[in-house]
Amino acid sequence: MTMSRFLSQEAERLAPYTPGEQPTDLQYVKLNTNESPFPPSPRVIKAVTRAELLKLNLYSDPTCAALDGAVAAYYELRPENVLTGNGSDEILAFAFRAFCGQGKPVAFADITYSFYHAQTALFGLEKQIVPLREDFSLHVEDYMGFPGTIVIANPNAPTGMAVPRTDIQRLLEADPNRVVIVDEAYVDFGGESCVPMIFRYDNLLVVQTMSKSRSLAGGRVGFALGSPALIDALNRVKYSFNPYNVNRLSIAAGTAAMEDAAYFETCRGAILRNRGWLTGELEALGFTVLPSAANFVFAKSDRVSGGELYRQLKENGVLVRWFDKERIRDYVRITVGSMEQLVSFIDETAKILDAV
Ligand SMILES: *Cc1c(COP(=O)(O)O)cnc(C)c1O
Repeated sequence: MTMSRFLSQEAERLAPYTPGEQPTDLQYVKLNTNESPFPPSPRVIKAVTRAELLKLNLYSDPTCAALDGAVAAYYELRPENVLTGNGSDEILAFAFRAFCGQGKPVAFADITYSFYHAQTALFGLEKQIVPLREDFSLHVEDYMGFPGTIVIANPNAPTGMAVPRTDIQRLLEADPNRVVIVDEAYVDFGGESCVPMIFRYDNLLVVQTMSKSRSLAGGRVGFALGSPALIDALNRVKYSFNPYNVNRLSIAAGTAAMEDAAYFETCRGAILRNRGWLTGELEALGFTVLPSAANFVFAKSDRVSGGELYRQLKENGVLVRWFDKERIRDYVRITVGSMEQLVSFIDETAKILDAV
């Protein structure tokens, strides 16, 4: 992006996020942005009706009552514990604005979801970057004395590694006046969710999304779960920014997706099986694969660099994610797709390794 003379000083300081490629030209085997390989639930297809489309002249429900209700019912919470948004990226922005600012800095890991950088720059927040340990594990001790808001992606991206719920609990207890945001975008694939602790700790905000485990990335539905005090704070920001933040079609789609627990379980089961297969095949090819509790694996080979593998796979029609960043340059991140996609990926990878 080039700098324009029209930019405000604030906009000059931004650090915009670079999304994974979303090509429209070729039919890639797309394993780069952790989408579900499965279509939305059949109930979602039925919920987005012609009748709903014909109501697009009317604003959506600013309270998202149906959607919040479905989320609350699934987790046995009350609607006061829920706020839904236009993807969890929007929820995270509300949270940064609500809980961080003058005298309230934010801390997060050096290797984590890079959108945290983009959003904290947008709000001009003072931040502390806390390096993960050598093996990419996160130790909550490293955050204990931090006098501000803490954000932890659990499981983490792009490593896929998870911390136990009891670790988060220690952080919550160490300072009840400090908000801990746990980004559980990938928790359905094997992490320990902090949702059961919401009633006990009013400083715990859990953020989840329907983009990965509920096949709704394009529907843009995310949600926050927490104490009424935290949810009220998020609503202050929401009603200062975009009161109708979830559109009519996404409210219908998200509600139906949340209600179809059986379909969700089927898809999740398939991803877990496929992840096991993919991990085994990569290890057989000599890759080091980090232990993943997510719908992707983070892997490196000592025969080909991460950048080279990414480029050669792309030339052969397979997209994975590569981060040209210190500490993780040797790795590629591979979304756990369908078996058909994964077989193509493994075949192409084996060919590339044979040629080096
Ligand atoms: C994908 C992702 C999100 C954002 O998802 P939305 O599509 O905006 O709901 C948030 N956090 C992490 C760690 C993610 O990987």
